[in-house]
Amino acid sequence: MADATDVTGATATAGTEGTAEAAPTEPPGAERPAGQLKEMPTDWRRALAIVAHPDDLEYGASAAIASWLDDGRECVYLLASVGEAGIDTLSPAEAGPLREREQRASAAAVGVATVEFLGHPDGVIEYGTALRRDFAAAIRRHRPELVLTLNHHDTWGGTYWNTPDHRNVGRAVLDAVGDAGNRWIFPGLAEEGLVPWDGVRYVAVAGSPQPTHAVDASSGLERAVASLLCHRTYIEALTKEDPETYCRTFLEGSMRGVAERFGGRPGVSFELFSR
Ligand SMILES: [Zn+2]
Repeated sequence: MADATDVTGATATAGTEGTAEAAPTEPPGAERPAGQLKEMPTDWRRALAIVAHPDDLEYGASAAIASWLDDGRECVYLLASVGEAGIDTLSPAEAGPLREREQRASAAAVGVATVEFLGHPDGVIEYGTALRRDFAAAIRRHRPELVLTLNHHDTWGGTYWNTPDHRNVGRAVLDAVGDAGNRWIFPGLAEEGLVPWDGVRYVAVAGSPQPTHAVDASSGLERAVASLLCHRTYIEALTKEDPETYCRTFLEGSMRGVAERFGGRPGVSFELFSR
């Protein structure tokens, strides 16, 4: 989660002790209100996953995406930035192309072939009409029934403050779903051949501190571990732990946490918005 932080807000600073080591101990959603999670809906075929940074989808959601692909569903990734400010020891000029490559590899590890980057500046992505327009254009182009994004709330739950990029991107995604269906908003898009798409039924927010739904993702776990491991440069800067152990421990822990509220099934949780 690459504006210099991972899912719990840790900075990738070459494995020094301190904040970076705090990252894997508390998966997102660890502090949930009581109550069981509902089954994710299945009346959709195409998904578009829109997040701020390389690795945002790999800290959990990719296990769900892998299992959905097994069902014959489709998924496209759209990243607002290439995560060029995410690694303390690498300059943005070096980190950007490297992280873009790692993200393409991580998408391929779960079977996602299409990865698009918008090139917004990592760490200072601004909420506004420019971001909404970019997302609305992508929604019109790919015509998904389900849009997936990452936690748009202020925190990950408890005292873990979320980052501005995640908040801004998540909120812009939720707003852009409406923009994509309204021909009077961003009329220039139609002139580019992007006709309105009002077919989004759901927006699923991964990593939300208040999840409502989940999907059994045990069949996607191994591909999820492989996909997170593709962000090796970032992870090696984040932790001294063996990268594969780190990835497996994080994802298994996160899915076990979901299982406690999902009939014992290891899963990925989402806060689901219906339309
Ligand atoms: Zn991120």
